[in-house]
Amino acid sequence: MKNVSLALTILVIAPVVSAHRLVRLYDVSQGSVMNMIEKGYDVTNVDIRNGFVDIMLPEEDVDQAVLLSHNYEVLPREWGELLTENAKGAGYYYDPEENWAFWCLLAEGYSDLVDTPVTIGQSYEGRDIYMIEITGQTSGYKPPIYFSSLIHAREPGGNSVLIDFAMWLSSNYDGGDTRAAYILDHSTVYFVPVANPDGYIYNMPNGGNQRKNMNFTLGDGVDLNRNWGYKWGYDNSGSSPYPNDQTYRGTSAFSEPETQVQRDFIIDLEPIAAMNYHTYGGYLLYPWGYEDILSPDSILFASWADAMTVENNYTYGTAWQILYNVNGEQNDWCYSGESVPRIYSMTPEVDDNGFWGSQNDTTEIVRICNECRPMNILFCFAALDYVGISGDGEVGIEPLLLLNPIYPNPAVSSVSFSITSSGSSNVDITIYDTSGRIVHSFTTGELAGGTGSLIWAVSSEIPAGVYTARISDAAGNCDSRRFTVMR
Ligand SMILES: [Zn+2]
Repeated sequence: MKNVSLALTILVIAPVVSAHRLVRLYDVSQGSVMNMIEKGYDVTNVDIRNGFVDIMLPEEDVDQAVLLSHNYEVLPREWGELLTENAKGAGYYYDPEENWAFWCLLAEGYSDLVDTPVTIGQSYEGRDIYMIEITGQTSGYKPPIYFSSLIHAREPGGNSVLIDFAMWLSSNYDGGDTRAAYILDHSTVYFVPVANPDGYIYNMPNGGNQRKNMNFTLGDGVDLNRNWGYKWGYDNSGSSPYPNDQTYRGTSAFSEPETQVQRDFIIDLEPIAAMNYHTYGGYLLYPWGYEDILSPDSILFASWADAMTVENNYTYGTAWQILYNVNGEQNDWCYSGESVPRIYSMTPEVDDNGFWGSQNDTTEIVRICNECRPMNILFCFAALDYVGISGDGEVGIEPLLLLNPIYPNPAVSSVSFSITSSGSSNVDITIYDTSGRIVHSFTTGELAGGTGSLIWAVSSEIPAGVYTARISDAAGNCDSRRFTVMR
């Protein structure tokens, strides 16, 4: 009886939230997109490659889309809101309670790898924001790599990807995919899966359109991904001074508890690299976002992003190259090096079906996880290579025998080994897995002119994982390099 009356009370006091629909506009120029953003439209995706723009409109205003473009379509209802049948949860996405349960159970199931969730601070409404640490059993310095999701409360697809990746790392550490063992033996991976808990919880019975936090002092919340301290409020492009806009940046840099909590944790942690997940659209973004300029590491970022998106074909670049300028966002602050040593920070925009479109379709959740997992793996590899953790041969003196960079790496069906030798003799190539077992070995012919290359067709029986190629000649010179096989 008590439960029934409580439920009734909630029903009575719950605010009336108007339904919203995602609308896709075709034939819209770049200029009119900027115009829409300036006018405060909730522009949710700008897909220049495919020539459309998505905006969120209150249901009663949907037919006004014709004023913006005659060529438009109203996207399925579940793309823009949580269906009433899921009113107490998020369908196949993990709701707040399911998140907590998942991370606690992961820590219980893999207690030698995964720590129980630790609170790093509180949200505006006083809820815990927690992190999970996962690492292997090796000792020594293991650089931190940071993953976060749900700073925007209506973007649960990013959270699904984090859950999948944490599960993959933990379940493959021991005897599974050796790439997981490599990552966890050489780094410590941190997850902040629910960066905006108030907004996420609010969404569960309220339709799902809350993107910002729940600080309603001046309007309907603050956009936490416009509230970071580097170039905060630089201009009004993609960052609004108006409290009711979806990109409202707050009254000052780091005015919000949620951004303060992540900032302080990141300063303590000093991660080398970060992936801050959002949805949607199928993009991989890197700094800078605040202005039309390239960062000193733009070539490095592009080379990472190029490899990371081979499988999922996400569009990569800076926010201003792909979408539009934004300031006060997390990537720029992480990368700025102002408060913490430079963090190689990227923002994936998962190619989910709008915000909630996979809520009742588990195959779509599996799809987005599958297409982001290789991206996460390669990101960790790229970050670890960057700080000098790799299987490469010695550096410094000119080696007598050299295994040049392996191409392609990661490899799918064949690998090319290029060898430079000071003499001319046969060279043995041996491929080892991470346990030191020989996977394959072969010998080159005599290297004419001291150089030669050899292509190895990777057998389909070779599992995905990390491998080491070692070369040696008759004089006892040797060299080795690590490469990855993807499946
Ligand atoms: Zn977002």
